[in-house]
Amino acid sequence: MRIDLHLHTTYSDGSRSPADVLALAKAAGVSALAITDHDTVDGLPDALEAGAALGIEVIQGIEISSRYGDTELHILGYFVDRHDTELLHRLAQLRASRHRRNPRIIEKLNGLGLALTYEEVKALAGADSVGRPHIARVLMEKSYVTSAKEAFDRYLAQGAAAYVPRELPEPTEAIAWIRMAGGLPVLAHPSWVKANGAGLLKLCEILKAEGLAGLEVHYSTHKPQQTADYLSVAKRLDLLVTGGSDFHGLTKPDIEVGVGRGNLRVPEKLLEPLKKAAAVQ
Ligand code: AMP
Ligand code: ZN
Ligand code: FE
Ligand code: FE
Repeated sequence: MRIDLHLHTTYSDGSRSPADVLALAKAAGVSALAITDHDTVDGLPDALEAGAALGIEVIQGIEISSRYGDTELHILGYFVDRHDTELLHRLAQLRASRHRRNPRIIEKLNGLGLALTYEEVKALAGADSVGRPHIARVLMEKSYVTSAKEAFDRYLAQGAAAYVPRELPEPTEAIAWIRMAGGLPVLAHPSWVKANGAGLLKLCEILKAEGLAGLEVHYSTHKPQQTADYLSVAKRLDLLVTGGSDFHGLTKPDIEVGVGRGNLRVPEKLLEPLKKAAAVQ
C-alpha cells in the first residue's frame, strides 16, 4: 500500500471535491492520505466522512505559504486541530490577503486586454481560499490560454506580466501556528527552494530550531537524485520524512492522486513515526 500526504481539493485551488479525491485515492490503492488545502481546513469534514466510508485514513492537514527572502517556502501541517481558534483566525487573515491581491492581478490582466472579473474567478472557485490557479482556469475557459502552465508562464508566475506579490507570513510564524494547533510542521517540496546542498541543509537547520518537524522528501516532480539528497538532509537533521503528490486536478493535469506522474510511491511505513511525533507534541 501507499500513502499520499499532499492533496488539494475544491476548498482551495484543487478542481476535485474531497469525496472525489478520496475516490481517486481508493482506485490508486492509497491506504492513508492528508488533505492539505491552502489556508483552509474547511474541506476536512467532507474528507473524513468520505474516508470513513471508503476505509481510507484521513489525516487533517493544511498548507501555508510563507516568504523567506525572495523565495516562497510552503509549510505543510499535519494532525492540526481544525477547531483551534488561533489557527482559524490566522487562516482567515491569509485568505483575506488573497482577496486583496487577486483583484490587483485581475486589474493587470485587464490592462493587458484580457476581459475577466474577480466575480467570475470567485464564482469558479466556489470557496473562500482563492488563488492564482483559479485565475488560470478562468483564462483557460475564456481561451486566452490553452493550459494552466501557459497562464502561469505568461501572466501569473513571479516575474510574469500580471504578477502581484502577496503579503505572506514568515516561515517561523507558519511553523508556530501549526505547532500551537497541535500539528507537525513540514517543509513542502524542497525542490522549489532556491537553496540546495549545504544551503538547504542550513535552511532546514534554522527552521528546525524554530519547530520544523519534517521534510517532504517524496514528491511528484522529484528526480531520484533529489529524493536521495533530501532523504540525507532529513536523516542528518533528524527530521521526519513525508511525501505526497500535490494533486490539484485540472491545473496540474499531469499529476495523479497517489502516484504523481506515475512513479511516485510514498511508503506506508512513514506514517507511524509521524503519528508518534504528533502524539507527544
Ligand atoms: P497562490 O496561492 O495564489 O499564490 O498560487 C500558488 C499556487 O499556484 C501554488 O500553490 C501551485 O498550486 C500553483 N502553481 C504555481 N505555479 C504553477 C504553474 N506553473 N502551473 C500550475 N500551477 C502552479
Ligand atoms: Zn495550490
Ligand atoms: Fe506548495
Ligand atoms: Fe500544495
